[in-house]
Amino acid sequence: MSYDDNNVFARILRGELPCRKVYEDDHALAFHDINPLAPVHVLVIPKGRYVDMSDFTENASDAEIAGFFRAVGRTAERLGLKEGGYRVLSNCGRDANQEVPHLHVHIFGGANLGPMLRRRDG
Ligand code: 5GP
Repeated sequence: MSYDDNNVFARILRGELPCRKVYEDDHALAFHDINPLAPVHVLVIPKGRYVDMSDFTENASDAEIAGFFRAVGRTAERLGLKEGGYRVLSNCGRDANQEVPHLHVHIFGGANLGPMLRRRDG
């Protein structure tokens, strides 16, 4: 899939839409999810134009990849989640129901999050 410059996270990066910022550096921006699914639910996005995790890991530079994942850790630390723990998740593509076609990592925390996925029958 080619990158859509009008996706909502691209617009947040350009400052066209507001966000509740948690952390920002040269490689990444972290902000609160508009529809939180946990007491703490923050999204971390790279500044580059990457559709999803596959696009990013194939095409981003080593510096972008290192910088992005370091930003995920720093965001969790800034949110005070290191001691209690947290969950990191990235939906990639159709089967994961990815909604926004700009790579993002969800950070969930602030309570016990229960099992990772609902167990499927059969
Ligand atoms: P996905 O399903 O693609 O992994 O997750 C997309 C996430 O982006 C959802 O959790 C959704 O609530 C969040 N989201 C969608 N639009 C906006 C927005 O305009 N601002 C913020 N802060 N989050 C958004």
